[in-house]
Amino acid sequence: RTAQEALERLTVDVPDWPEKGVTFKDITPVLADHHAFSAIITALAAAGRDDHGNVVVDKVVGMEARGFILAAPVALALGIGFVPVRKAGKLPREAHAVSYSLEYGEAILEVHRDAIGAGERVLMVDDVLATGGTVEATRQLIEACGGVATGASVLMELSFLDPRAVTGALPISTLLTV
Ligand code: IMP
Repeated sequence: RTAQEALERLTVDVPDWPEKGVTFKDITPVLADHHAFSAIITALAAAGRDDHGNVVVDKVVGMEARGFILAAPVALALGIGFVPVRKAGKLPREAHAVSYSLEYGEAILEVHRDAIGAGERVLMVDDVLATGGTVEATRQLIEACGGVATGASVLMELSFLDPRAVTGALPISTLLTV
């Protein structure tokens, strides 16, 4: 509840950015407020615990770039490792790659092949779930490593873009739906 209130109070809607007709949700003021930042990390991390508070995942994956800021502290809060999923050409060692469609054109996401072990349970963390393409591509990368994508935890879901049509049955917890 506190996390949701902080998100509603501090997120700034930026009209016509990065292009005309798009309203960008800027969460940087949430990060700049210690209490708000702490509350959203605790809330995001809850997706990695069962009803008794036991940690039920082995790794947390964050998607470049805002996902890194959230996923790393979530991993520390859960006492498990963090794995970056990056845009093409940024990772220095052997990587799996998945291409996915954006509003205009295509993009590629990558993960180090050895970053996730066979059978490891992996939670994805990102700021905004928009079309769902990023979460779906990341799910494919986790599975290419032999891991199990248990779900995603995001701050905000833009329900008018219908992301669940793309992400399917994957459990996704959202602090705020707009
Ligand atoms: P999707 O792949 O369309 O679901 O877009 C999600 C990705 O784009 C996430 O990694 C977000 O960080 C980013 N994104 C899309 N829309 C917004 C927004 O309004 N605010 C912040 N990030 C956004």
